Amino acid sequence: MQRLQPAANVEGNDMHHLLSKIHRLAATEPISHQGKVPHYLYAYELIPLIDDPDYKTYVGETGKSVEERYSEHADGSRACLIVRKGHYLVGPLRRDVIDSLPTFKCRECAEIAEGLLADYFDDVEGGAYSNNGSAAELRREEMESDDA
Ligand SMILES: [Zn+2]
Repeated sequence: MQRLQPAANVEGNDMHHLLSKIHRLAATEPISHQGKVPHYLYAYELIPLIDDPDYKTYVGETGKSVEERYSEHADGSRACLIVRKGHYLVGPLRRDVIDSLPTFKCRECAEIAEGLLADYFDDVEGGAYSNNGSAAELRREEMESDDA
């Protein structure tokens, strides 16, 4: 498996350009976006229960704490579709990447950042699963045809 570049190195030249974009987006988010709660990015491993799995990592954003939202995925009360379908189990949080990511003032910016983070995982490891990002549209089409 390819080793991820450290996300913590904000000023570093070796930071992946998509992670740099996330930091830049947070740094330039206007104060007028300030909502009641900050929004966090999170990602966890998807453990496949099917042959030839397409996805490796779930990427999301939340106005709750990462721990609270993750526990809703893990206990099944608010899991993602592919987990509810029994195709994957919720694996551990990707602390190696998410712990050094910035927070966002509003959901809209967090959703843009979520797309960038999904694209980052797609670029480095492949198989990101998210509501946003370049491949999200394709995933939605897949899911709709799946549900039909
Ligand atoms: Zn914003």
